[in-house]
Amino acid sequence: MLSPKMQAALNEQIKNELNSAYIYLGMAAYFENESLPGFAHWMRIQVQEELFHASKFFDFVYERDGEVDLFALDQPGVVYDSPLAAFEAAYKHEQFISGTINDLYALAMEEKDYGSRPLLHWFIEEQVEEEASARDIIDQLKLVSDSKMGLYMLDKQLAARTFTPPTAEAAE
Ligand code: FE
Repeated sequence: MLSPKMQAALNEQIKNELNSAYIYLGMAAYFENESLPGFAHWMRIQVQEELFHASKFFDFVYERDGEVDLFALDQPGVVYDSPLAAFEAAYKHEQFISGTINDLYALAMEEKDYGSRPLLHWFIEEQVEEEASARDIIDQLKLVSDSKMGLYMLDKQLAARTFTPPTAEAAE
C-alpha cells in the first residue's frame, strides 16, 4: 500500500517522464528540420526510453494498490540554436530528473516505504547513465566544433542507436 504522499509523488514522476518524452520528441523534430536524421533517430529512441520509464512508474503504482493520476504536459520546444545547444538542454533536463528521483528516494525513506527502494535504485542507476550519455554527445559535438564533415559522421554514428527494454529481472 502506498502512502498518499508517495502516491502523489509517483504520479508526479509519471508526468515528469512523459514530459521528458515530449521534450525529446521536440528535439527529434528540431534535428529532422536540420536534416540530421541520425540525431533525430537518437532522440526518438530517447522518447521510447522515457515512455518506458513512465510505464514503469505507472505499473508500480498499481502493483502497490495505488491509483494513477495523469496531468497536463508542458509544451516542448522544437527550435534550438545548434545541435550542441539541444544536447546541453537534454543534459540539463536529465540533471533535473535525477534531482526528482533523489527527492522520491528521500520521501520513500521518510515514509518508511522500503517497498519502493528496488524501483528507485533502478532509476538512480539509470540517471547516472542518462547523464553520461548526454555528456558524451556534448563532448563529441565540441570535438567536431564547426566541422560539417564531423557533424555528418556523428549523425551516421547516432543513427545506429537501438532501444532494448531491460528485462523485468534486470529492473529489480
Ligand atoms: Fe527518464
